[in-house]
Amino acid sequence: MTRDISLGTATAQPGTLQYGRWEALRHPTGHAEFLPIIIAQGLEDGPCLWLTAGIHGPEQAGPPVIYQLITQALVDQMRGTIIAVPALSPAGLRTMKREPYHAPTDPNRLWPDGKPETPPDPDKDAPSSLEVAYKRLFEEVQASADYLIDYHNAWTGSIPFSIRDRVLYRPGEDAGDHRTEAEALAARLDEMLRAFGLTIVNEFPAAKYIDEKLHRSTSGAALLLAGIPAFTAELGGGRMPDPAIIAASVVGTRNVMRWAGMLDGEPEPIEGIPVVDAGYPAHRRSTPHVEEACVVLHLARPGDLVRPGDPVAEIRDVWGRPIGDGLIRAEYEGFVIGRYEGICYYAGDPIFVMAVRDEAPLVGPYPEDYFK
Ligand SMILES: [Zn+2]
Repeated sequence: MTRDISLGTATAQPGTLQYGRWEALRHPTGHAEFLPIIIAQGLEDGPCLWLTAGIHGPEQAGPPVIYQLITQALVDQMRGTIIAVPALSPAGLRTMKREPYHAPTDPNRLWPDGKPETPPDPDKDAPSSLEVAYKRLFEEVQASADYLIDYHNAWTGSIPFSIRDRVLYRPGEDAGDHRTEAEALAARLDEMLRAFGLTIVNEFPAAKYIDEKLHRSTSGAALLLAGIPAFTAELGGGRMPDPAIIAASVVGTRNVMRWAGMLDGEPEPIEGIPVVDAGYPAHRRSTPHVEEACVVLHLARPGDLVRPGDPVAEIRDVWGRPIGDGLIRAEYEGFVIGRYEGICYYAGDPIFVMAVRDEAPLVGPYPEDYFK
C-alpha cells in the first residue's frame, strides 16, 4: 500500500518520479507563476518527507541538493514519498533577489502564524499574492508531510549548519498537555538534526524569534503549526554554490531518510565540510561589534572555537595603523559561523556571526499576549 498523494498536476505513482506544476499566483500580464513539483514514491508505504528550496533568490545551493538527491536509483530503494519544491520563490531565483519584485518583503516570513483570522482591516495592505499562495501550500504540507527540510544557504565563507528552532506551545488551560507534546516534538527534531549531521545552531530565543517573524518561516510554520519535525539547512557558499556542501547535504538528507525508516542501511559519513560540535548548545548571535568606525582584518576563521577574551580580529585606521591595542576580542564562548563581508565597519557594526553558548530552554510558551 502506498499513499495517494497529489500536488498540483503531479500525482504519485509508486516506483517512479513524477513532475508537475502547482499554480501559485497570476501575474497582471496573464502569466501564471507556478512552483515546480517533484513527487518521488517508493514501492512500499512509508513517511512523507517534504524538501523545499529556493525561497531566497540569492541562495542557489538548495535546488541542486534536491536535483542530486532525487534519482530513479533512490526511488528504487526508498519507502514512502518525497515531495520536493525546488523553487519556492521563482521570481527571486530568476533575479537572484531575496525579495521577489511582486511581493517586496522577505518571503520566508509569510507562512501562516496560527493566529485566529480577523476581518480585513481597510487601512492595512491586503496579504500579497505570494502570502496567499503559501497559505494554500501550507495546507498541503499539513495534509501530507511527516517531516520537512527547507534548504537555504548562508553567506560566502560561512560554515554550513542546520538551524534548530525552539518549539513554542500555547499557554493557557491546556498548557501542560501542549508542553508535553512540544517536548516530544523537540526530541524528534533533535534526532532528525543529528541524523542530518551538519553543525547544529539553535535559533534565537523565543522573544527575538517572534520579533523577527521566524515562526513564519517555511520550517518554523511546519514545526510549530503542522507539528512535524522540520528545520532550515543553511548551506554555506553565498551566491557560489559549493559542490562539497551540496554533496554533504545530499548525504545528510539520505541519513535523515534512514532515520525516518525510508531507506535501509547504516548512516553514511559526512565528509568534505567542517562539522563543529562545541559540546554545549549554542545559538546564533552577531558579535563582537566595533566601537568606532574602523578597518577590520578578521583573524578567527569560520568553524573556530573561541573563548571570551580571545583576539578574533585586528582593528586599524584606514592608513593601516592599529587602533588602541589593535585587537578585537571575543565576548562570548562559542564558535564562528562566518565573517561579515568586507573590511570597512561603522561604529556598532558586528564583525562575525557566531554560535554562542545557549542557556535558554528549547521548549517554551508563546508570549502571553500572542494569540489575543
Ligand atoms: Zn535563506
